[in-house]
Amino acid sequence: INMASLDGAPEWKQKAEGKTLSYGIISNQSITQQRAGLPIAKLKTELVNAFNNNQVLVVIGETGSGKTTQMTQYMAEMGLTKKGIVGCTQPRRVAALSVAKRVAEEYGCTLGQEVGYSIRFDDMTSPETIIKYMTDGMLMREYLADNDLNRYSALMLDEAHERTIHTDVLFGLLKDLLRRRPSLKLIVTSATLDAEKFSKYFFDCPIFTIPGRTFPVTVLYTKEPESDYLDAALVTIMQIHLSEPAGDILVFLTGQEEIDTCCETLYTRMEALGDLAPELIVLPVYSALPAEMQSRIFEPAPEGSRKCVVATNIAEASLTIDGIYYVVDPGFCKQKAFNPKLGMDSLVVTPISQASARQRAGRAGRTGPGKTYRLYTEIAYKNEMIATNVPEIQRTNLGNVVLQLKAMGINDLLGFDFMDPPPVATMIQAMEGLYALGALDDEGLLTRLGRKMAEFPLEPNLSKMLLLSVDLGCSEEILTIVSLLSVDNPFYRPKDKQSQADTRKAKFHQVEGDHLTLLQVYRGWEASKFSNPWCFENFIQARSMKRSQDVRKQLTTIMDRYRLDIITAGKNFKKVQMAICAGFFTNAAKKDPQEGYRTIVDNNIVYIHPSSALFQKNPEWVIYHELVLTTKEYMRNIMVIDPKWLVELAPAFYKKGDPTQMTKAKRMEKIEPLYDRFNPPDAWRLSKRKG
Ligand code: ADP
Ligand code: MG
Repeated sequence: INMASLDGAPEWKQKAEGKTLSYGIISNQSITQQRAGLPIAKLKTELVNAFNNNQVLVVIGETGSGKTTQMTQYMAEMGLTKKGIVGCTQPRRVAALSVAKRVAEEYGCTLGQEVGYSIRFDDMTSPETIIKYMTDGMLMREYLADNDLNRYSALMLDEAHERTIHTDVLFGLLKDLLRRRPSLKLIVTSATLDAEKFSKYFFDCPIFTIPGRTFPVTVLYTKEPESDYLDAALVTIMQIHLSEPAGDILVFLTGQEEIDTCCETLYTRMEALGDLAPELIVLPVYSALPAEMQSRIFEPAPEGSRKCVVATNIAEASLTIDGIYYVVDPGFCKQKAFNPKLGMDSLVVTPISQASARQRAGRAGRTGPGKTYRLYTEIAYKNEMIATNVPEIQRTNLGNVVLQLKAMGINDLLGFDFMDPPPVATMIQAMEGLYALGALDDEGLLTRLGRKMAEFPLEPNLSKMLLLSVDLGCSEEILTIVSLLSVDNPFYRPKDKQSQADTRKAKFHQVEGDHLTLLQVYRGWEASKFSNPWCFENFIQARSMKRSQDVRKQLTTIMDRYRLDIITAGKNFKKVQMAICAGFFTNAAKKDPQEGYRTIVDNNIVYIHPSSALFQKNPEWVIYHELVLTTKEYMRNIMVIDPKWLVELAPAFYKKGDPTQMTKAKRMEKIEPLYDRFNPPDAWRLSKRKG
């Protein structure tokens, strides 16, 4: 088999990107040997001295040099854990979990004992824990409960260059805390580019550099732009597998669905080749993957076979997989982006930055000289890609962050010491959103409702919906619905059994819409005593259901803690609908006489997603959980509402139309709530602007 037999293989243009090598290769070594062989190990004494002599330290170093797994252990060894624990934040859940697992192994303890992790809805720590990995979001929540973070003697803000919204907020919070707690140590790790900026922000602290272990990486670009990057990636993987020497492949795709499709296609193509090709072990990596699958990516491929890891952005820097010689980079990732018109975030596939592209390429040069296949042209790299990533805080919805900051007693948001402040308009919009939900009062201060909302690890509209359900007497149902909305779509629709899956799904459909359909699924599963075979028969993803059950338990614990009653609405689904409406009133849409629906907020044309229980039912008024943009703008998870509820439940956002001001035609349609782009009180607005 050679390349010529593969249709549509991209034509490559080679371009060497010079890098120098320094170290040898390790394999089949004991954990102690592996640790000792890491680039960071040679600098242990210097590092420990630097920790001792400085309150804050910025550490930079190639990925894989040992920063994440080793520095926490060094801090424990130096005795910092005598007075408190060592915490290390990660931007991603999977990274926190996987790194904690590795460090527990190195430390020689069971995960959750001396070494543990804490991520949303999953806490694996105990009173014995002295090294704790966690998401940056979790540390922010801990700050809410104790704004001196007294449990910690040292903190490490890892992967700070990722600039997640939580890391950015933690920057400001910790900068202030360092002044209040002189004994607290802080390490900030970063990719080279931002180190100076971080040091400057943190009182001009020293920068410690760990020289990396890198080999030269040859960069290949396509000669022409690729219209279908998934297909181009598949062809390239096969091309590498069939014609390149031994070495594992790492492919970057944007999300679970894409990764699953890619893996399935690879299995099929490999099967078709039979004995003609050596074995290719295909391994998907994304955050929703169960932990056992995730640890498989670190196992070396057996002699004579090749590993192909198909991953999201997580493998760009957070996870280091040894043995990668080839990287396939289509040049895209999924990013949260703020839609200012809707005041909401959506996940969109976006071109990556040059910095990300370089980082991805570097993954091929850790074990030996490698190759990177960029599925875009050199011109696109140079002229179309932005230089570095835009911090998340400048491109996403700030509702949750504003709510949490307010709950921490930080009222002067415009005066908050952000490293890169978000646009003022976005911040004001977030406050307006919280005001409409009833979380902020006329003065922009947190209300009692807002304070309770901040206790839940949920987006503000979900926590509002949950809290209102207590008053409305349907919290049992809403708890389940919120839990299911917080996990991946539970409906499973395999390509070869679509109609069977659809028939099964239709059995759960409720006239009120998708939220109650989800509730129905949960009840079915509950009635089956949470059985896996039941999920299988009904084309339901057992994994999503299990996770939603965990989420439900956690939320129940918080409800109990605040003595919030869990009450069932019985057959009265109207209560459930009203509670949902109380959280998501901004997402209302009305049937358009011409086609589709019009959103009330900005009169956009949107459509009911074909997967909805309400598809082709076309009720007059609906609210949706989210919008997804594919060929059209689709509403996903939709529910029927009575427009009266909008005015009743969101008086700060809607008002009744004045019948005397209406045309006759309008009056025929009864009284409609007219959208009134509300204005918070002038005084409030001004005082906020002044900061
Ligand atoms: P850095 O933070 O500098 O990127 P890490 O501390 O994450 O480096 O990684 C150091 C080494 O530990 C790498 O060689 C990596 O392959 C290994 N490692 C990290 N996590 C795991 C894991 N879960 N299983 C096996 N090896 C791991
Ligand atoms: Mg790391």
